[in-house]
Amino acid sequence: MEEKIALVTGGGTGIGAACCRSLSDAGFKVGIHYNSSKVKAEELAASLPNCFIIQGDVSTVEGIDSVYDVIKKDHNGQVDVLVNNAGIALDNPIFSANLDDFQKTMDINVRGTWYMIKRIARFMIRKKSGRIINISSVIGSVPNPTQSVYGMTKAAIDNLTKVAAIELAQYNILVNSVAPGFIDTDMTKKIPEELQKEIFKKIPLGRMGQPEEVGDVVKFLATSGTYITGSIIHVNGGMYG
Ligand code: NAD
Repeated sequence: MEEKIALVTGGGTGIGAACCRSLSDAGFKVGIHYNSSKVKAEELAASLPNCFIIQGDVSTVEGIDSVYDVIKKDHNGQVDVLVNNAGIALDNPIFSANLDDFQKTMDINVRGTWYMIKRIARFMIRKKSGRIINISSVIGSVPNPTQSVYGMTKAAIDNLTKVAAIELAQYNILVNSVAPGFIDTDMTKKIPEELQKEIFKKIPLGRMGQPEEVGDVVKFLATSGTYITGSIIHVNGGMYG
């Protein structure tokens, strides 16, 4: 059986790490991509049977080009599954958010996802096969005060998913978004306990999701789901869908 490679951006932590574990369980050789979380990426790598780590800042063209170069040189230009998970959240009302934070969030979440697809899809087009899974957010669909910029980036990712799905269908490349709700990671640990209780009231299942519950869905889209493309799969305990 041919070895298949799955590349997960921001794979050292949270949802990305859960995706790395689930894809490893499914038999993939996993490329754990990181920017600054080197120690966490190395710790995760030590626990997976068949993987490699790869560094690059997705907010810069050079950072993504370097990921492309390493895949081309060291991994025979092969990526069967790309999970665009790297992202940051910005929590600020419009009137107090500043332009530098706006730009940084756009560069990582939007341009990073778009440019990663532009570069890595080249390998899939050559092979006439591939899966691209973009991690967006329920906040791309549901307006959330203080998260205007974050919500805009995630809505942009969902639109990108739909366009890329149409453009790449001719090469047998399936493109979908997985849109998590409130998941228990470092990103949500910052939310004060009182506010968390308010959020839980809006979630029919009454709890946060675990990163593994997102990783499971990513595994399904990477290995099954052969007639699903251009879809936004919501994983949010029933709060929206
Ligand atoms: P996290 O902070 O653990 O993960 C984000 C990852 O992105 C980290 O590994 C980080 O190092 C990486 N990253 C950030 N900037 C980068 C850059 N410039 N270059 C390369 N990598 C970079 O938090 P998480 O909750 O696991 O988030 C993962 C994804 O899931 C994000 O896209 C986030 O928006 C999305 N998401 C999270 C939740 C949630 O409730 N936790 C909900 C919806 C969507």
